[in-house]
Amino acid sequence: MKYTKRIKEAVKEKNLLKLLIVLIFFSILSSGVSLFFSQRSNAMKETISSSKIYPGLNLKTRKQEADIYTLFISQPVSDIEKINDPINQWVNQERENFKKEVQSYETSLKENDFSAHLNIQTDTDKLADNLYNLELESYQLTGGANGTTKTKTFLLDLKAEKFLETKDIFSIEEESLTAIRELFYEELEKEKIDFVFENLVEERMADDDSWRVSIHSDSVSFIFDQYEIAAGAAGDIHVSIPMEKIKAHLNPSFAKRISLEVPEEEVVEEEIVEEERIEKEEKKEPLKADDKYIALTFDDGPHLKVTPRILDILKDHEIKATFYMLGNQVDYYPGIAKDVYDQGHELASHTMSHKDLTLLGAGQIREEIQRTTDSIKKATGAYPKSIRPPYGAYNDAVKNLASEFDLPMVMWSVDSLDWKNRETQAINQEVMSTVHSGAILLLHDIHATTADALPVLLKNLENEGYEFLTVSQLLEYADLDGVGPYYNVKMNE
Ligand code: ZN
Repeated sequence: MKYTKRIKEAVKEKNLLKLLIVLIFFSILSSGVSLFFSQRSNAMKETISSSKIYPGLNLKTRKQEADIYTLFISQPVSDIEKINDPINQWVNQERENFKKEVQSYETSLKENDFSAHLNIQTDTDKLADNLYNLELESYQLTGGANGTTKTKTFLLDLKAEKFLETKDIFSIEEESLTAIRELFYEELEKEKIDFVFENLVEERMADDDSWRVSIHSDSVSFIFDQYEIAAGAAGDIHVSIPMEKIKAHLNPSFAKRISLEVPEEEVVEEEIVEEERIEKEEKKEPLKADDKYIALTFDDGPHLKVTPRILDILKDHEIKATFYMLGNQVDYYPGIAKDVYDQGHELASHTMSHKDLTLLGAGQIREEIQRTTDSIKKATGAYPKSIRPPYGAYNDAVKNLASEFDLPMVMWSVDSLDWKNRETQAINQEVMSTVHSGAILLLHDIHATTADALPVLLKNLENEGYEFLTVSQLLEYADLDGVGPYYNVKMNE
């Protein structure tokens, strides 16, 4: 108003110079205002869109299932491109290599009806505010009994927007480097690994710029992929030096940073653990044999954006569902896992990292199940009520361990194919043409399109007379207990 008046005055006075100055001033001011607002909204976006446990970071999860391979990738992302680039580069390269391998084995994979497998997971460790140790592990199996594991580590200083290098982590005076090497050999000795090639170890340890280390609050691990320093039979090698021993040889400012700053979230986490939770009593109304029942299940979450959307939709319809959560996702988004539980939904385990359990040894399977149960318990105070092995893949070892943890194995009888058909109409058609009473319906709370499809889908199911139960209610109704696997619940029998 004020400016329009001045413009008018300027025009009236035919003072073009004055008009120009006023216009320039106005445009600078308005661009300043819009810049201010866009920065504000970016900042808001940042606070909303990052994990509370690992501020500034998020998990990006991708999943692909083709005829001859399955792929599951979960990697950290930030708002900073130059941080994302090297991570993407490594992940993409692993993915490219895998696809090339799959292509070259295509005939034999098809002949043996075998599905190749790539799983990339991230272990995130917060060492101090804005300081993260990221350990990306890629496991691929394209044939044969044993897959190959590759590890890449990043020590991310989010504040400085860079990755720390050897010189930032360790004291690089010759004295310290020698001491670190000695500590390394001492620990390597203890590991008693067969077929270690001394010359390769020496070569790698001599070149401190090439060290691949993973930093934890209690240890520093040196990591070597399969074949790097030993014969293939030795697999990948992790040599851990206790922090107490190596501490003196760290770069002093790095040592100060990781030992003095106590991550504030730890306190919050403890509060959740200490909080006594009473299992919510589910309302048990007698079910009628003639009625139609269905259990909605959501896999692979919790997801930062999609899960809250799905919770809102379920709330609108007063429907309780079952969420098969990944421990890694729960660790990033414990608050969302807690929301799911607080809103009366059922929590269930989908393992820690979405690995094909049939490819793991008993010890690793146990660890996958135990760690997921711990994560869910820590975030929500509740134990998962059942387990769904990734890819629906199980064998006797998986079955025995599920039973050891008292977790019924629950599959699905109706696949919405929401991971494949990222489109509302297609998801609806797929479900409505295959749904039946007693069905366990598979959906995923990681695709926005699934949340898009849900309101119409729920309406259609309601119109057909379906009532919604959690998985354990459905099993209980059919008097099913034990390990399973359960694909659906037989009704009217
Ligand atoms: Zn899954």
